[in-house]
Amino acid sequence: MPAQQRQLFNLRAKELNVLPIKVPPHYEKLVREEYEVLGYSGGPLYRAVYPDEDRLELQDQHEVPDFVEDRTNMPLGLANVLIHKYRRRALFLVTDKCVGHCMYCFRQDVLTDIHGNPLPSLEERLDLVMGYLIEHPEISELILSGGDPLTIPFRHLSTLFEQLARKTGVTDIRVHSRNIVFAPQIISDNLAELLGEYGVRIYIHVIHPYEIEERMTEAVRRMQDAGVRTYSQFPILRGINDHVQVLEKLLRNLDELRTNPINLFIPDPINYSACFRIPMKRLLRLMDELYWSTGSWTNGVRLVLDTPIGKVRREDIVAWDEQTGRITFQREGKNVIYHDFSAELDQPGELDTLLWRG
Ligand code: SF4
Repeated sequence: MPAQQRQLFNLRAKELNVLPIKVPPHYEKLVREEYEVLGYSGGPLYRAVYPDEDRLELQDQHEVPDFVEDRTNMPLGLANVLIHKYRRRALFLVTDKCVGHCMYCFRQDVLTDIHGNPLPSLEERLDLVMGYLIEHPEISELILSGGDPLTIPFRHLSTLFEQLARKTGVTDIRVHSRNIVFAPQIISDNLAELLGEYGVRIYIHVIHPYEIEERMTEAVRRMQDAGVRTYSQFPILRGINDHVQVLEKLLRNLDELRTNPINLFIPDPINYSACFRIPMKRLLRLMDELYWSTGSWTNGVRLVLDTPIGKVRREDIVAWDEQTGRITFQREGKNVIYHDFSAELDQPGELDTLLWRG
């Protein structure tokens, strides 16, 4: 992308609380290869990290800054640091940094907010979270997220794991990371061993089969050899992976990587998400096609929507007004309204572009 265009986008992004462009060298190489094959920009890997012309222009009704309302579940004194929504599980926003920025990121709001209102130092954040976990021994599962937790220095990660094991009730640590795709070289032998030593489960965010290439595969194998269990979850995104053959290939490649896919996400209807969203009927059709065309070892994957009342699935739909696009989900007696993406704005990705290697 030309430097001037990039600069203009970044200026506008700052005004609108959208993450600026940030593409790490490893991923840039993949985007360049895609461009050379396609002869034009706008392929799936390009769209993941660079803005298309419709990125800030296309909008649908009912977009909100934060659909999941994570902020209402942040304990006092731990704003933008810890989310405690379920009794036994908490999510620690370890850092606001990622090696690269994803155009579709669902945490744009929190991350850009933190960029404008810097957090306490990492040491202070670790102390605060540790204090909270000691006071809440019922929390047995801690999800490290962000930003990307694998951007923090090794010694901090090591201290965190050691203290979690020694002082808190946390028995299961889950790390959500896209750095393994963006910069696989970060998985050093030492890091893999550390993750293995504490039985960490890594949820790798892979959104397209071509992201699983040689160096990324080596990084995953290095972790697995050290005893790390790897899983995956990713959103279904228009123009990136919104075709059954792309999803099928992605699930197959993940299976070869011995990385279990758990959840496929419906993109949050947040501000400036329209160029990635897909109408519910098409999403459900994609899932049905996927179910019929893939082996039972991969098609157990669930389509979920993260909401203020927790994750909901198609079987939680209790009302669907096709005129207005209002879909009501119900979970544990609580309702949440989701406004469907308008079908007239939907332009499905073309298979030749999505799977440009043929
Ligand atoms: S790596 Fe994750 S948190 Fe960071 S920009 Fe991408 S989706 Fe958002």
